[in-house]
Amino acid sequence: MSVNPQSYRDLLAKSDPTVFNALLGEEQRQREGIELIPSENYAFPEVLALLGSSFTNKYAEGYPGRRYYGGTEFVDIIENAGRERAKKLFRAEHANIQPLSGSPMNQAVYLQFIPPGETILAMDLSHGGHLTHGAPVSHMGKIYRFVRYKTNPKDGSIDFGALREVAKAERPKLIVCGYSSYPRDLDYSQFQAIANEVGALTMADVSHYGGFVAAGALKNPMDAGFDFLTTTTHKSMRGPRGGLIVCKAEHAKGIDASVFPGLQGGPHMNQVAATATALHLVDTEEFRLYARQVLANAKALAAELMKHNIHLVTGGTDNHLMVLDVMQSFGINGAQGEKALDHAGITTNKQVIPDDPHPPLRPSGVRMGTPAPTSRGMKEPEMRVLAGVIAAALKQHDDAAHLAKLRAETKALCARFPVPGL
Ligand SMILES: *Cc1c(COP(=O)(O)O)cnc(C)c1O
Repeated sequence: MSVNPQSYRDLLAKSDPTVFNALLGEEQRQREGIELIPSENYAFPEVLALLGSSFTNKYAEGYPGRRYYGGTEFVDIIENAGRERAKKLFRAEHANIQPLSGSPMNQAVYLQFIPPGETILAMDLSHGGHLTHGAPVSHMGKIYRFVRYKTNPKDGSIDFGALREVAKAERPKLIVCGYSSYPRDLDYSQFQAIANEVGALTMADVSHYGGFVAAGALKNPMDAGFDFLTTTTHKSMRGPRGGLIVCKAEHAKGIDASVFPGLQGGPHMNQVAATATALHLVDTEEFRLYARQVLANAKALAAELMKHNIHLVTGGTDNHLMVLDVMQSFGINGAQGEKALDHAGITTNKQVIPDDPHPPLRPSGVRMGTPAPTSRGMKEPEMRVLAGVIAAALKQHDDAAHLAKLRAETKALCARFPVPGL
């Protein structure tokens, strides 16, 4: 970047102290606390720079070579590069990197390929499905008829027997998998086989772990013949807030028409540039090592939490996240757990567990994951320290003095691992 970012900060400090001071506060919060919300991460420094670059000034409705505006020769370069990188990483025939975020990206698939009122088969929300997989409060839940499959209560595996029965009875037009709070890798070929049997399209929403799929650390649904893979770009991929869709060549025209002009106007070209660069940085040996370390850290954290007699949903993790049943382990609800951990300097979120008897604002679980601390360079020894702090905070959840002591421990740990880009 040709402009010194420091000059923007000095400018902002003078012109808008309210926002500037909030920015300083947020930066301090990110520096001094441990971020364990599994959907959060630290964007690559290059991504932060591109988001604040002059690409934000540019309108570019359309696609490279077919724009409705002049002056697009440079934005065409970045979008073409980004599309090729996404195709390569996910071994797909087509890519669209314009979706403004994860929710519109999923809507773009549904609205183009599934007629209103038709049936979509997706996972029960309490077993890990996302809002956009047909929550009754979402518009998609009103436009389509969502039917559900679940996990096995025994071991948390997907109940493919029941899934096949529902699929044969309900004849869905689309089967959706990929989740926000499910700690296991998926056998995509089983979803695809059932879809073939009933004539449904398949969509894997790998929003949480797209970066780890791209890095080869988790299975790639496109290898199993999926029609669509959707992923956010800001979670595991450390890119800008946004979404991308890859698909089979036969769906290319439909997907592009659905994103623009079906659903969106001008793409955010600063975001498209940052996505292109994030995809470039994901396609490196360094990132592949990072992805494996995220999974190794999650395994270490899970194993250590279980040593502290904490019950984990499905009994562990294969990916980057885990769900602690704090109700069963400590007799507290997820909101109390989240608050105690917050006081200890650890950010997590309350989480419903499969068929949770408790309401969503006071559920039985707390969800945590390792993408963000791994981006700071933390490894297994730090995970063991963290597990001790987490167990102590949950056990002594109403002892303010003890939580303050734990917070100081967390802060000391954080001081050794700077936040990238801050
Ligand atoms: C995060 C997420 C989304 C939505 O992304 P937003 O950018 O928040 O709209 C969609 N699907 C899944 C599975 C997610 O985890």
